Amino acid sequence: MVFVSRREHFNAAHRLYNPQWSDQKNEEVFGRCANVNWHGHNFELIVTVKGNPDPDTGFVFDMKKMGDLVKEFIIEKVDHKNLNVDVPFMEGKLASCENLIIEFWKILAPKIKEVRPDSALHSLKLYETPNNFVEYFG
Ligand SMILES: [Zn+2]
Repeated sequence: MVFVSRREHFNAAHRLYNPQWSDQKNEEVFGRCANVNWHGHNFELIVTVKGNPDPDTGFVFDMKKMGDLVKEFIIEKVDHKNLNVDVPFMEGKLASCENLIIEFWKILAPKIKEVRPDSALHSLKLYETPNNFVEYFG
């Protein structure tokens, strides 16, 4: 089994805010990410697919196709968007990296299988800052 990864980048705005809490509690829990007038992050998404190399190509997954898939179905939906108000699959959810990565998985895992049924999405890693990232294995 070989694991192949592709990195993509997007910029997006959000606000971490639980409407059931007071402004004070939101500030205590979410700090600067609770800022009323939004703020942005430079996100990095790392998509890892696993499988055995195709005997005809030597590839676990065509990286060009992986880049196209991630761009079409993820990056175009979130890049330069406000995650709280512009992104249908985040509607009604707290715009955290954790919730975001779960939604990304639901979209990407079936697309990966569609392109190469012998392969599978292994993990997603989402960097919100160079120091903070979340990882998801489905
Ligand atoms: Zn933030």
